[in-house]
Amino acid sequence: MVGKTHVMIGLATLAGAEAATGLVQPHPVKDIPVGPFLCIIAVIVGALAPDIDAEESQIKYEMGEAGLALSTWLQSFGVEHRGLTHYGLTGLIVTVSSGLLGWWLGYPDVGLAFGLGYLSHILADSLTLTGTPLLWPLQKEQNFHLLPAVLRIRTGGPVEPLIFIAVSILLLFLLPALVLPEWIKTLRHGL
Ligand SMILES: [Zn+2]
Repeated sequence: MVGKTHVMIGLATLAGAEAATGLVQPHPVKDIPVGPFLCIIAVIVGALAPDIDAEESQIKYEMGEAGLALSTWLQSFGVEHRGLTHYGLTGLIVTVSSGLLGWWLGYPDVGLAFGLGYLSHILADSLTLTGTPLLWPLQKEQNFHLLPAVLRIRTGGPVEPLIFIAVSILLLFLLPALVLPEWIKTLRHGL
């Protein structure tokens, strides 16, 4: 899937996780709860990160020159597109590591948001025609698909914009749930 679809799916995942578990903390700075915004940035970067292995144009578009440098460095080790960075195992390691790093820095929710974005990317790519090596090393020969063959989505094809729109609408309902409670909590606290 293309970057903007991944961003939307990542945001919806964060909003859903927040609605279900109340993950996001306020982290007030001068009484302004910056936590939701830090988590939003983290989930966006996380949702784009697995495609650091993609071709030059896509990386430049999504992550600029720094992303391109990192991507070229990864490719020098023989990392292929939708290879190592799209393993479910990598997603789990990234999520545990970023969660622990966040916890160590006092921002466990921001660390987990990065991991959620990363995992959502791999699952979203598993809906496409190509699929992903999600189950590596259990399933090495074939890519993993979440959908039966007829329903699989072509990356950048005609169905993807519909998914983008559907997730955007879902997000319209979920996003207030993500941001507003922290503001209300802080305001109440301030009064
Ligand atoms: Zn991808």
